[in-house]
Amino acid sequence: MTIFSKIISGEIPCNKVYEDEQFLAFHDINPKAPIHILIIPKKEYKNFQEVDPAIMGDMTRFIQHVATLMGLDENGYRLITNNGSDGGQEVLHLHFHLLGGAKLSWNHLADANSKNFI
Ligand code: AMP
Repeated sequence: MTIFSKIISGEIPCNKVYEDEQFLAFHDINPKAPIHILIIPKKEYKNFQEVDPAIMGDMTRFIQHVATLMGLDENGYRLITNNGSDGGQEVLHLHFHLLGGAKLSWNHLADANSKNFI
């Protein structure tokens, strides 16, 4: 059981933005942008690599709705899912980071000397 399962069950509180029967959106506790929302399915999937592709249509609609609710639809945003160890995933429950509210930088994400760095 991850911390996100405890948030879904209500055992741990969150700063909720929106939810429906399948998904929940809440503010990240350690924001990396002026707006930083986490979007998760209520059903447990470890990460994007293991998610049932059948839910992604509904999840896409949900994310689009949250982006609109947060006023990010016009100026844009970044959508990230960290997948597995090299992807930097810390919480093993699929989540998308919705980031915006400023012009976001896009620098190198790994040390240029790292193996296989392109
Ligand atoms: P990741 O590194 O992609 O697994 O991202 C996990 C994210 O969950 C991080 O950005 C954390 O700041 C965030 N996080 C961890 N615990 C909580 C919590 N209780 N409420 C909100 N966000 C959390």
